[in-house]
Amino acid sequence: MAFEGLADRLQQTIKKMTGKGKVNEQDVKEMSREVRLALLEADVNFKVVKDFVKKIRERAVGTEVMESLTPGQQVIKIVKEELTLLMGGEQSKIAVANRPPTVIMMVGLQGAGKTTTSGKLANLLRKKHNRKPLLVAADVYRPAAIDQLKTVGKQLNIPVFDKGTEANPVDIANEAIEYAKQEHLDYVIVDTAGRLHIDEQLMGELTQIKADLNPDEIFLVVDAMTGQDAVNVAESFDQQLNVTGVILTKLDGDTRGGAALSIRAVTDKPIKFAGMGEKLDELEAFHPERMASRILG
Ligand code: GDP
Repeated sequence: MAFEGLADRLQQTIKKMTGKGKVNEQDVKEMSREVRLALLEADVNFKVVKDFVKKIRERAVGTEVMESLTPGQQVIKIVKEELTLLMGGEQSKIAVANRPPTVIMMVGLQGAGKTTTSGKLANLLRKKHNRKPLLVAADVYRPAAIDQLKTVGKQLNIPVFDKGTEANPVDIANEAIEYAKQEHLDYVIVDTAGRLHIDEQLMGELTQIKADLNPDEIFLVVDAMTGQDAVNVAESFDQQLNVTGVILTKLDGDTRGGAALSIRAVTDKPIKFAGMGEKLDELEAFHPERMASRILG
């Protein structure tokens, strides 16, 4: 379950505060220490933890008295607000191009869940937003990846544009956009190539696709279960491509939460969606406040 380990620890810490009619500096100090340990254990980026704890400590010590809440509850409220902010505050929206189709470029390392997530996103756009998506198979290096996207498209009954492995990704994507215009489809989701590791060739190709297509969104797909690796991957991709958002996959299996809690602070890019399972309807808009509530109970 997502965040289970972190939730257990933070909830224990916080329970100690709830009943307190008075909160002194010592209480705040102790709580900050426990929050710090819980976050570090959850594999949250060290600097992010440091800044976070500093903030809650400053706010908790100067807690203004609110009539409706005990000081203990007030401190809990502060932790929740700061956790929400840490994950981006507001829920962020998906772009809509002035003139359709809206072009979304999907990037990420192999195995992160890029192809599955492309399908899930198309499904969500159709179901929740009433849009007509087109999936584009632009990973020309791996025939298996093209077949996988076609299978996903078939399962969802969503069209998949492909030209096999002979054409180059930029031409494929451009043709796909033309096709979408003809067919009055309003979202084009381009599943680009992934590799096991970040390398120059991959980044070169992605940069080229970006320059040519000028996509409305560039979504980086990262595997939440890889913790700080996911954060490092996000930093590298973002430096090269200036992505517009992150999609965290496999959050269902991530008991720690390090990636979810660090990515926004480290990259300053919003987490837009979260993958919550293998099925094609298991993609959710990422709501920082709901996530914080999930963590704090
Ligand atoms: P790609 O190489 O990046 O295109 O990755 P795939 O889309 O092939 O996904 C790799 C594996 O991760 C597959 O077995 C997917 O079913 C699985 N996967 C993707 N997203 C999620 C998710 O949100 N939760 C879980 N549990 N598994 C996922």
